[in-house]
Order: sequence, then structure tokens, then C-alpha cells
Amino acid sequence: MISTEDSRKADDFDAFVYSQSPGYNELNMRVAFKNAIPLRTIVIYCYDPRAVQIPFALAKIWPDEVYPGELVFDERGNKVGSTTTIFPIVVAGGRAIDALRSITIGQHLFGVQNIVVAHHTFCGTSSFTADGLIEAFQAEQGTDLSEVYERDSLAISHFRSSLQQDVDLLRASAGVPRTVGIYGYLFNIDTDEFTLIVKDTQHGR
Ligand SMILES: [Zn+2]
Repeated sequence: MISTEDSRKADDFDAFVYSQSPGYNELNMRVAFKNAIPLRTIVIYCYDPRAVQIPFALAKIWPDEVYPGELVFDERGNKVGSTTTIFPIVVAGGRAIDALRSITIGQHLFGVQNIVVAHHTFCGTSSFTADGLIEAFQAEQGTDLSEVYERDSLAISHFRSSLQQDVDLLRASAGVPRTVGIYGYLFNIDTDEFTLIVKDTQHGR
């Protein structure tokens, strides 16, 4: 094991860390990041490989959005930005609870105007119940998950309620900017079509 103290000593890898670069200025760095990527929309969806089309399909129904866009290079050929306006957050079931930290950081570095929560038809998280998962983990791993995760975020039993829960969770989170529009869509994995189920646009697009 490397102790925290040892792991923090300066080494050759510091050359790859922005905050360790000569003349580093946090505020200027943030402006540079903001200019590097025109992020507008975060889309949260499931890691199921059948859901992989979701950000592409979103850019079709929201024609102002660009996904995946093109990388931007500097004169030395280093990758310094992108033209994309969509950042995907890919997590089990596309549940908002797993996306909160990434939304906060996306807002800080680039700015976020819209958040799309996309749950999909025949999701694996609709194949079990929260109780069934907790019981199985107890039996198979000997660990108690009953207080580890919010129970409603473990499994999906009803799409209107799962999407409403996630939109409400995002709206109530201190780490989500108050001005974002929040959209809950059901994505049909067989037709690649979206159905808007919940919309919370106090501001938004
Ligand atoms: Zn899924």
C-alpha cells in the first residue's frame, strides 16, 4: 500500500496535472475550460449496451445539440476541446442518484442548461425488486445493503414514478444549478424513440 503522504509527493506525472502547471491560475483555468467545450445538456442513461444510441437519438430530436461532435486540436496536435454540446452519464438504469457529482462538476467547468434523464424499455433494473436485490446480496455476499442506497433508486417498477423521482431528486439537489430544465424521457430500445414523461422547466431551454 502507498500511504497518502507518499502518493502526494511530486513526481513526473505532475506534468499531466493542470493545477501543477507553471503559472497555474484557477480562475483563468476555469475560463479556458468553459471555452473548450460548448456543453449545454447532460443526458443520464443506462449502461445497458442496447441503450447506447440514446445521446445520438437525443441530438436528433433536439436539433440544436451536437453529439458526438468533433475533437479540437491545438497547433501541436494536442486534444484541447470538442464541439459536442452533450455529455453522457452512463449508469445502471440511468438513475439520477448516480449522476449528481458529475452534474456539479459539469456545471462548474462548462455550464449546464438542460438535464435529460432517460430510462429505457425492458431495463434490467425492472427485472428485480429492491427487496430481492438486498436479500440476494445478504445471502451471496453476506453484506447488508438495506441502508446503503435509497431503496427507490435500486429498481424500476413503474416508469412514470421512476422518472418523476429522478426529476424531483435533481431539482432538490444543492449541486444541480437552479436554472436548468429537467426532462424525463422513456426511450424505446427497439424503435430508438423517446416519449417525454416528465418536464420541469422553470427555466431551461
Ligand atoms: Zn437498463
